[in-house]
Parts: sequence; structure tokens; C-alpha cells
Amino acid sequence: MRIGIDLGGTKIEVIALGEGGHEIWRRRAPTPAGDYRGTVQQITKLVEAAEKELGRRGTVGIGIPGTISPATGLIKNANSVCLIGHPLDRDLETALGRPIRIANDADCFALSEATDGAGAGAPSVFGVILGTGVGGGLVARGQLIQGVNAVAGEWGHNPLPWPREWRFAGGRINDERPGPLCYCGRHGCIETFLSGPALARDHQVATGLEMSSADIVAAAGTQPEAAETLQRYYDRLARALATVINIFDPTVIVLGGGLSQVKGIYAEVPKRWSEWVFSDEVATRLVPPKYGDSSGVRGAAWLWPEAGSANRP
Ligand SMILES: [Zn+2]
Repeated sequence: MRIGIDLGGTKIEVIALGEGGHEIWRRRAPTPAGDYRGTVQQITKLVEAAEKELGRRGTVGIGIPGTISPATGLIKNANSVCLIGHPLDRDLETALGRPIRIANDADCFALSEATDGAGAGAPSVFGVILGTGVGGGLVARGQLIQGVNAVAGEWGHNPLPWPREWRFAGGRINDERPGPLCYCGRHGCIETFLSGPALARDHQVATGLEMSSADIVAAAGTQPEAAETLQRYYDRLARALATVINIFDPTVIVLGGGLSQVKGIYAEVPKRWSEWVFSDEVATRLVPPKYGDSSGVRGAAWLWPEAGSANRP
């Protein structure tokens, strides 16, 4: 049995996979806000509950916002800042009495979709989270690429490429340079243009209207301003993905997170990215996820190979 845990800012989700990757148990609990010790205890309780109810012991993989720094062994790059600087893997290993595997949540998403999801069978997959944050993970021949610095696929904090200026009626200008300030301390990160909050902010700059990203997407069929905001979003996503195609050249790009539900993306973005990809033809497929929000927790379970299989991250 393989247990997967998705540690989010507001909830902890746990699943147990049986033979063949079938889900046999699932539970959610709130994340103790700002409380590292409480978070370790909550995870431990959930794993113990799964094993007690199922009557067997499992491997444990966990997806986190951020990653374990290979240099220090401590969590870095987490937007749930109470985790930063803690050895979460070692603390959980002590609490649960077994080795633990930890990966970034976007890496877990990519691994899940590449293993038996929307990218199953593809030689290379780039998995992308477009949600409150923007992240990514790379999988080649079924193996997660974590990288020597454990930041492989972290495109959200690269700058938006080929920046441009947008002009609106009334003389308003939306210049992508230097771009909005990011929580990482730099300006113009891809995340500051492609996250849900970024879409809402962009719409406000263009129109003066305060709307949530979900409301903008819902209004795009009837309101021209909302439709234009989505056009800018497609343009930016195409440019940002083009740089990934130029480096990694994935067979499939799978989108996850709330904005992956915007249906127009899958037709509109590939129409635009050819302009930026250094190739005569672009065969890369851009697809919605198979497991959606469940991919984070499934991918965490997949960090351990199924007993008897050769799949290792
Ligand atoms: Zn940033």
C-alpha cells in the first residue's frame, strides 16, 4: 500500500493506493495555520488512521508547497512560510518510524498525470499548476526530474518572456515591464501574470473593475472586457510555455490548478505559441488534467514505486 499526502496551505489531503494504483482510502483535514509542530502531528494522525482502518502499513510520500533544499536538508521556497527552515522529512520519519519521500506539489502533480493521467505513455511531460501560485514539474520516461538544486521545472519565478505593452481605451497602459512585485522579491515573475490573483489584478488594471478570476472567466462569454483579459492571459501563457518548449521540448504539457478549467486555453494557447517556439512545427500537446485537484495527492503516493515495479523517482 502506498500513502500519499498533499500538504496545502489550508488543508491536508491523504489517500492510500492499493494494487494497480487504485484508491482505497481518502481523508481531508484542515492544516493547522502557522503551526509547524501541529502540522507534523496532523499528518502523523492521518497516516495512523489510514493504517488502522485498512489494517496494513504503507509507504509514505508527501507533496509540499516548496521543496527540501539539498544544501541544508531544510524546506525552502514554500509560500506556507511556517514550513521554511524545518527538516519536515526527518521529523516525519521520526514520527512515523519509516523513510519518507518529499517532493514539490507541482512535481507530484506532474508525476501523477505522467504516470496514469493525461500524459500517460508520453516520453516527456511538463506539468503546470495555474492556481493561487504557479509551479511546474518535469517528468521524462516516467521519472520525475528533481534536479541538483531541487528546483527543476520551477518556471513560475522566471521572468515573463518577450514583455510587451498593452494600451486600453481611455489612455490606460498595462506595461509588462518591470511587472508586478512578486513575493520572491523580484518583479515580473511568470507567477505575477499567470496565477489566479494575477488574472484578477490584470483585469483591474485594464478596466478598473474588481472581480475574482473565476468571475472573469465566467463573464468572458458575455463581457468584452473579460474576454480581452483572457486574450492577454492566453498571450502570456503562450510566451511563458514557449520558453519551456525551447528547453525541455515536452511531448505533453498538462495544466492543473483552478485556471486549468478555462476551456479556451487548450485551443487558443497553441495557436499563439508557434510565434515564440524555435521550430517550424510545434507538435507538443496542451491538455487538461485527468485527475485535476487529486493529482497532487496521487503523485505523492507515486513517489514510491509499486511493490515489484521498477518505477523510481
Ligand atoms: Zn517570483
